[in-house]
This record gives sequence, structure tokens and C-alpha cells, in this order.
Amino acid sequence: IKGNGRNGFAFFDPSMAAEADQRHQLEVDFRAGLARGEFELYYQPIVASGSRRSVGMEALVRWNHPDQGLIAPDRFIAMAEDTGLVGTLGEWILQTACAEAATWPDDVKIAVNISPVQFRKTNLLDVIMCALVDSGLPPERLEIEITERVLLEWEVEHVSTLHQLKNLGVAVALDDFGTGYSSLSYLTAFPFDKLKIDRCFTRDLLARDGCGAIVCAIVNLGRTLDMVTVAEGVETEAQQRMLEAAGVGQMQGYLFGRPAPAADLAIGGPTTADA
Ligand code: C2E
Ligand code: CA
Ligand code: CA
Ligand code: CA
Repeated sequence: IKGNGRNGFAFFDPSMAAEADQRHQLEVDFRAGLARGEFELYYQPIVASGSRRSVGMEALVRWNHPDQGLIAPDRFIAMAEDTGLVGTLGEWILQTACAEAATWPDDVKIAVNISPVQFRKTNLLDVIMCALVDSGLPPERLEIEITERVLLEWEVEHVSTLHQLKNLGVAVALDDFGTGYSSLSYLTAFPFDKLKIDRCFTRDLLARDGCGAIVCAIVNLGRTLDMVTVAEGVETEAQQRMLEAAGVGQMQGYLFGRPAPAADLAIGGPTTADA
């Protein structure tokens, strides 16, 4: 008997129990996976408008699950946050990304996503400083990406953490810009180095009137506030042309490169296979 669990008896729906079971199993696997080293960082190029030269790489985490294969972060970051394991995962991500980037040319930066829970619940500053010292990566080559979810429960100490990072030389980017509730007010709370214009604006650029105007407005805002603007999710040359015309500083998307394991990158130093 399927499909009748929705109205009133949802709690007893066996399919929901199965779902909860699966979630629990994934959580058990996640703990084990962390210990067994099943996580891997993929890297996606961020290019300068015009030249298309890679100026940075964004680290994007993947889980090589023993049975389910490659799992995307959307399926486990929230779980990592709920279970408190995001601190352990996040520390591994920062250590690994900085160590990898230290083998790249000096003018290629590494961008690392920081989850809101990781930001609030762990000693991010210490973790970042350790990753920098252990890898020898200059702070100027590290960029952290936070979403405005970090700022929803804006507290003085969070602003202070961001300022301390900036004083160290680490750049701070506001990710998924334009999708939240009151994005503009956050821009006065902290001097971000970079605004990453959400993929939805790039996607609708040719389809929806007004998207081009919004992108232009964000670019102008960025100029005024001395922030670099980056367009995410660039898949076609038509999009690239429009974004360049709008004055976007940097671009990222499948057109320039999909996220790939470190070993597949065109840049990078000798692999450590023989270490
Ligand atoms: P995000 O930070 O906005 O990352 C961009 C996402 O867009 C990535 O998905 C990337 O693979 C995808 N993408 C890039 N270019 C294109 C394109 O041209 N077209 C389309 N359709 N998609 C594109 P991914 O890797 O699945 O990551 C999803 C989200 O998971 C990320 O969104 C980020 O919020 C989170 N995430 C990923 N890696 C990490 C991490 O290491 N730590 C934390 N805390 N979160 C992460
Ligand atoms: Ca990001
Ligand atoms: Ca984004
Ligand atoms: Ca996103």
C-alpha cells in the first residue's frame, strides 16, 4: 500500500521509517568514512575575465562511499553539521586544500568553503593558522567562502574572527550572493574581498529580462565597495560574453573546467606518490 502515508499517519509510514534507517546508516558510514579517509577534494578553476587565465581553484569536497560511489556534498554537509562532525571534516579540508595549493604556482589561490556551523562552533582561526603553518602556504593565497547563513546570527565575535583572518592576509568571499533575504545589509557589516554572484543569475541571464541589469548592479556595487565580483555557473560562451560586458571580474563554471581531482589538474607540482 503506497502513497497514503501523507495525511495524518505519516509517522507510521514504513517508507519513512526506511528513510530514517538510511539516514542513520549514512551517518554511521560517515563516521567510518572519516576515519578511513574516504573523502577527497576536487578542484574547479576560477578564471580572470578576458584572459581566461586561472587565478584560483575552489576546493569542493566529495565522498568516495564504498557502496554508493561518489557522493556530492549536498548529501552530507548538513548531516556533518547536525552531528558535529563538520569540525573534523572541515579541518581535514583546510589541511588538504592548503597542502595541495602549496604545490601550485604562486599566483594561483585556493578557495575553501566554510560551513556556518564550522564557523560558529569551532575555533576556525586556530584551524586555519595550523593549516597555513603546516603547509607553508602564504595566507595571501587562501580565500575562505562563507554564505550569508553565517551572518544570520551575526555576533560581534564572528565579525572579529573575519577581521582577524583579513589581518592575517586571508581573503573572505561572500558566496551565493543575491539569493538571501537581505544580502545588501550584510555588505555593511563586513568588508568582503569578493562577491560570488549566485549561479541562478548566470543561468537566467539570457532567458529572463532584468537578470543582466541585476548583474550590472552587483558589479557596480562591487566596484564601489572595492570587492571583486565572480560569476558562478558559467556554462556557455554566450553567458561568458554577457558577463564580460557587464564587467564581472572573474568567472567559474563548466565552460572553463569541471571540478576534478588534484591529480587531473593542469597546474600543480609533482605528485607525492613516491613520498
Ligand atoms: P558552492 O560553494 O556554491 O559550489 C559551487 C557548486 O556549483 C559546486 O557543486 C560545483 O560543482 C557546481 N558548479 C560549478 N560550476 C558549475 C556549472 O557551470 N554549472 C552547474 N550546474 N554547476 C556548477 P558541489 O561541488 O556539488 O557543491 C555544492 C555545495 O556544497 C557548494 O556550493 C558548497 O556550498 C558545498 N560544499 C562543497 N564543498 C564543500 C566543502 O569543502 N566544505 C563545505 N563546508 N561546503 C562545501
Ligand atoms: Ca563556494
Ligand atoms: Ca556558490
Ligand atoms: Ca550554492
